[in-house]
Amino acid sequence: MIDIEQYRKVVGDKQIDDLIEKAKTHAGKKYLMVNTTADGGGVAEMLNSMVPILNHLGVALEWKILHGFHEFFEVTKSFHNGLQGGDISLTKEVKDLYLGTNEEFASYNEFDHDVVVIHDPQPLPLIAFFEKKQPWVWRLHIDITHPNEDLWDFVKGYIQMYDKMIISNTAYRKDDLVIDDVIIFPAIDPLTEKNKELGKEKIEEEMGKHNIPLDKPIISQISRFDIWKDPEGVIDVFRKVKETADCRLVMCGSMASDDPEGGEIFKRVEAKARDLTESGDVILVINAEEVFVNALQSVSDVVIQKSIREGFGLTVSEALWKGTPVVTSKVGGIPLQVKDGENGFLCEPTDNDAYAERIITLLNDQDLRERMGKKGKEHVRENFLITRLMSDYLDLFSEMIQK
Ligand code: UDP
Repeated sequence: MIDIEQYRKVVGDKQIDDLIEKAKTHAGKKYLMVNTTADGGGVAEMLNSMVPILNHLGVALEWKILHGFHEFFEVTKSFHNGLQGGDISLTKEVKDLYLGTNEEFASYNEFDHDVVVIHDPQPLPLIAFFEKKQPWVWRLHIDITHPNEDLWDFVKGYIQMYDKMIISNTAYRKDDLVIDDVIIFPAIDPLTEKNKELGKEKIEEEMGKHNIPLDKPIISQISRFDIWKDPEGVIDVFRKVKETADCRLVMCGSMASDDPEGGEIFKRVEAKARDLTESGDVILVINAEEVFVNALQSVSDVVIQKSIREGFGLTVSEALWKGTPVVTSKVGGIPLQVKDGENGFLCEPTDNDAYAERIITLLNDQDLRERMGKKGKEHVRENFLITRLMSDYLDLFSEMIQK
């Protein structure tokens, strides 16, 4: 059962009092969020907290999922990859499958809400298949700094049908995109199983369940098995770190129902790390419970997020919230969270030497880890907690209905 009072202990009375008052001003209104998966990945993570808490505060926020067949998600994952800079074959068949699935969903759904928010490229073209009776907002969660041009031209037409676009980073603004935008940072929920404070015993119990010995320092990456998170690069970095500092690497990944590539990439990582998994130096964990993710982020001496592109990267804030410094890439939304040399280190995404060097620096310096850990937690408390995110959405809804 949600107890909003518990959040006071984390963010203070003022933020909660303001949120409760703000929620009251939305009585009688209805809002809608649409995405394509209920679990796995950052979008589902946020909606799973935000929707029930806002409902608890009396805001009629509904969440619908566009369910698709495997082929649809193969297409949308290729769009995800293409928009982040990968190659894509944008054939008529591909477009038909993308648009057809959206059209079919539209034909069985009616949106009588006051504001509709569509998350990410998968359900983006829905707007073309509805009789638009209210403001529509598109929420971008991926990194579009270097999109494939053909694909960008194709999706741009749909984005411009919206009344507003929510982005996490000014770097996602485009000269050729004519649309109002607003910056809203993603956020984590400090009270979920994923993020609540765990005692030492619970952490040890969770590590025990997955046979992770605590005899050596632990470094970890927690991410879907996705090329953009560079899991194979993490193995390369670990080999370099091991030359100087004894430690273990835990890679923990989940499979999202709208990401059909996870299994294949996991197999590649498994093959690449075989000697290391056999020696127990690397431990791979898939589809672990939230509390395990929490325990791993808490027990790690260093968390790595070796993304090549990253819309925001909730895993970074999650680790910082547990007081763990993060060695990560200077891409997408990550520099909003990690300030180089303050609460972690930023590296060029493919500079494995820099990654290894920074990790070794942290492994060898407990004081530095603690100092950075404290700063990281405060940075997340001030900027990236769900109470602020909900407040931002309520402001956006107010603005949209007044237009
Ligand atoms: N996650 C998880 N289990 C895993 C790997 C990831 O629960 O094994 C969660 C992670 O804790 C985070 C989300 O999935 O909440 C990933 O969000 P992020 O924004 O970092 O990346 P995305 O997957 O959305 O690209």
